[in-house]
Amino acid sequence: MDITKHINSAHKAFKDWKIVPFQERQKLLLKLAKVLEKNKEQYAETITREMHKPITQSLAEIEKSAGMIKYYAEAENVLKPENIKTEYDVSEVHYDPMGIILGVMPWNFPFWQVLRFAIPTILAGNVVVLKHASICFESGDEIENAFSEAGFPKNIFQNLRIGHNEIQEILENPLVRGVSLTGSEKAGGTVAALAGKNIKKSVLELGGSDAFIVLEDSDFEKAAKEGPWAKLQNTGQICNAAKRFIIHKKIEKEFVPKFIEEYRSYQPADPMKKETRLGKMARPDLADDLENQYKKALKNGAEVVVPLERISENEFRPGIILVEEGNPILQEELFGPLAMLMIGKDDEHILKLANDIPFGLGNAVWTKDKKRAQFFIDNLQSGTVSINKATSSDTRLPFGGAKSSGYGVELSLHALKEFTQVKTVVGN
Ligand code: NAP
Repeated sequence: MDITKHINSAHKAFKDWKIVPFQERQKLLLKLAKVLEKNKEQYAETITREMHKPITQSLAEIEKSAGMIKYYAEAENVLKPENIKTEYDVSEVHYDPMGIILGVMPWNFPFWQVLRFAIPTILAGNVVVLKHASICFESGDEIENAFSEAGFPKNIFQNLRIGHNEIQEILENPLVRGVSLTGSEKAGGTVAALAGKNIKKSVLELGGSDAFIVLEDSDFEKAAKEGPWAKLQNTGQICNAAKRFIIHKKIEKEFVPKFIEEYRSYQPADPMKKETRLGKMARPDLADDLENQYKKALKNGAEVVVPLERISENEFRPGIILVEEGNPILQEELFGPLAMLMIGKDDEHILKLANDIPFGLGNAVWTKDKKRAQFFIDNLQSGTVSINKATSSDTRLPFGGAKSSGYGVELSLHALKEFTQVKTVVGN
């Protein structure tokens, strides 16, 4: 692929797009949301065919994406110049678009991840080139076509069908001004290093191993019902899924059987069928990785609560393991239908267990006691803390990670400023 040609056409598009008023850009976004709603069945089928999530979850992904686009289509213009009082006649802060921004995106939400990065970036006046996960090129093409169908000028959004080795050439091109990567730590570190070497802004949304903490004073029946969904949605392949269930020892005997019963109700089936709640993993090699992690955890002392059973090259009956402090598996992300259960003695101990990992995306705490909730809010190391609910992204609220889960913000009005140049204008 002639990457330079695509970048040059993106740059040409940028020169015109950056002077289109914010409100005019928003009108096109509204049209894009309508295109998504109109074609949602088609897009959902593409997602399920490419990465095997249950079709109802693919449809929900498109609906959530359309809702997010509408949010930005109606959002306040937080990018208009700000006046600051000084002794000068003019002292203003401007938020200029930066230019071409590269998106390096994963397969787990083939539309949502791409769009939640691209929409605020484009609304801020930038243009986007996408390097999608290699199993999701068709989703990438459909997103590009959706922009055309909505009437966006040509080359505002381009899907490049390239491998990850070609990212270097893109980031070395001086017309490309930044990169947003959603994916693994390894990919994030590699791409951020390339961006750093070329002095370009990067945003990283990486892995997680979030805690779902259930205290003895909570509505733990509700938590036992919601917990399995928080883990097994998208076949357990969500960055901010509940991956470690940390339960107060006083309710272990009551909570765990209820949790297991609900957990076992998720069994893999044909992802194209509407009644299916658990699909297949995206690729057989990822299923191999999960199986190896399971063996590693057991070898290091974890106990089987519900066995992880592989029933085809990329399908499992979901498993649960009981893990104690010090097991090296805790330093890793389990990206699939395998949950970790941990038992905590008291709030301090539970906090220690929750924080003692490299990641921090969206921990959840279940308690009716506001003081105890506040203790966790103040001390959990993560981008989000959810109280009495499972963690999930919400367009209106910022989303981002702490520690090795990355840096930078997506969603909400905050995301509009991520790829802008702050320009000070001052004088008489
Ligand atoms: P991945 O293997 O890191 O791939 C993500 C993207 O990076 C793909 O486009 C991939 O391209 C590219 N890539 C892979 N290896 C690379 C390398 N060495 N150098 C440069 N680019 C590289 O991740 P994934 O398996 O698609 O997604 C799962 C991961 O994403 C999990 O860790 C999950 O937690 C994380 N995630 C995080 C968030 C968040 O918001 N924090 C959201 C969703 C997912 P190829 O396909 O061509 O290899």
